[in-house]
Amino acid sequence: MAFLPYALCAMRFASSPLMSFNDVLGHARSIEFLKRAIKNDMLAHSYLFLGNEGIGKKWVALQFAKALNCLEGGAERADACDHCLSCKKIDDQLHPDVLVLEPEGQMIKADQVRQMQKDLAYHPYEGKHRVCILTAADRMAPNMSNILLKTLEEPPLHTVIILLASNPRLLLPTILSRCQPIRFNPLPIPLVSRWLTDQKGLNEKEAHLLASLSEGSPGKAIEIEEEIRQIPRGELLKGLLGLKSLPTEKRESWSESLPSQREELLLILEVVKTLLRDLVVAKTVKDNTQLIHSDLLGEIEDTAMNWSLPSLLKRMDVLHQTTLAIRANANMKLALEAMMLSWAEG
Ligand SMILES: [Zn+2]
Repeated sequence: MAFLPYALCAMRFASSPLMSFNDVLGHARSIEFLKRAIKNDMLAHSYLFLGNEGIGKKWVALQFAKALNCLEGGAERADACDHCLSCKKIDDQLHPDVLVLEPEGQMIKADQVRQMQKDLAYHPYEGKHRVCILTAADRMAPNMSNILLKTLEEPPLHTVIILLASNPRLLLPTILSRCQPIRFNPLPIPLVSRWLTDQKGLNEKEAHLLASLSEGSPGKAIEIEEEIRQIPRGELLKGLLGLKSLPTEKRESWSESLPSQREELLLILEVVKTLLRDLVVAKTVKDNTQLIHSDLLGEIEDTAMNWSLPSLLKRMDVLHQTTLAIRANANMKLALEAMMLSWAEG
């Protein structure tokens, strides 16, 4: 059974509810592009879906695989029926011609890519098209890009390869040039927020907060849900943003209380950024419905009164620069200390 490794990989993502293009959240333009390719019989051999993690690229790729293989759909419909044997097998991750290659740990490993290359040499078992989805094409083991390139240069018959990536700079230019790029833009905050209330049962305030921090990605919103609950937003507001001056011991104790993991720290800084943004809103627009942290309304109004607008904007600017530096691998402790010193200047 040549495809077993992929079937096992595919089993890792949770069993999916029935879904077709019509049920995908957002991404109307990308979906329309793919539907037109099916209708006009103008499929590319390889696609590159570009966009933030968790934004829905894999969902769309799977719906595309279903639409291509649907036994009821046909080219005119260019969508999955969700009921035929082929659609059901893809939903249940049991279709032998729809391969999903997920990273093992942090990376797609050499063995996985080599196995994929071997398996693609066969004709599709039962589908009209074989669809191979590489979920993290920008996280491949060294030298694997060259093997992938070979496959893209000599595309197997009846096969569509879909690379998913959030960081195209990590892909070889030769790979980029072989693929039809399709961009997945961040979803609007109200759309993510409504999805979190309707589909995930969150209350409106929580949904709005998570959606605002999600960078337009429903997957990220779900991923950070627990972490956000544990961040002491009220304390950050009172003990950090509420203080006119930041004494040395306060700066030190705050720095020490922060996580040493870069991603966790960046999330806290994002929360601080949205708190600062709310202080600016409270100071200028004075419209409570615009607040991200609307559950902290009283504290935000009180804190905003202590600050001038230029001071808040300066803090935001310094925080933004610090976040950029930490993202670019700066020493986290030094970057934070510089930020706090700058904040202490007023
Ligand atoms: Zn179908």
